[in-house]
Amino acid sequence: MKPIVAIVGKPNVGKSTLFNRLVGDRVAIVEDTPGVTRDRIIADAEWQNHHFTLVDTGGIELKTNNTIKRQMRAQAEVAIDMADLILMIVDGREGMTAADEDVAGMLRRNSKKVVLAVNKLDSVKLESSLYEFYNLGLGDPIPISAEQGLGLGDLLDVVIEWT
Ligand code: GDP
Ligand code: MG
Repeated sequence: MKPIVAIVGKPNVGKSTLFNRLVGDRVAIVEDTPGVTRDRIIADAEWQNHHFTLVDTGGIELKTNNTIKRQMRAQAEVAIDMADLILMIVDGREGMTAADEDVAGMLRRNSKKVVLAVNKLDSVKLESSLYEFYNLGLGDPIPISAEQGLGLGDLLDVVIEWT
């Protein structure tokens, strides 16, 4: 079985943008999940001959009356259960928030390997926002721009190193 890489993070950090880019562009689509078209959350992906299954946990629908915090926790739990590697995404433009710290705390208390990517760093001058995310205690944050396609090769190099 291919390793499972699960993307977690609060709403609006760019999880779906990253997912689409990794599946449709930088990484070849190997096989689509039948029946999931508009909001695909699972796809097979490949980088440098390493094949893995990518899951966007933000697309997992949970009870509608759940608070965002509960949704995020439930999504993170799914990721902890199913994934071989968790890819946590934060918003480098917004900066670190309590919601990021909450999810990071859950991930730190588990033994699953976590890779932390700081998204929306669309230009070099934004890269200084990277450093505060060391405080999440999840290792070296990797700067990316899912929209501009920056840093994705470096991110995938780290991902396949751990899968
Ligand atoms: P999700 O809720 O985590 O799945 O986030 P989405 O992928 O839906 O993106 C939320 C918003 O952030 C959208 O308006 C995206 O266009 C924007 N976004 C995503 N990635 C980037 C990025 O690298 N840079 C910038 N500036 N915006 C981004
Ligand atoms: Mg999304």
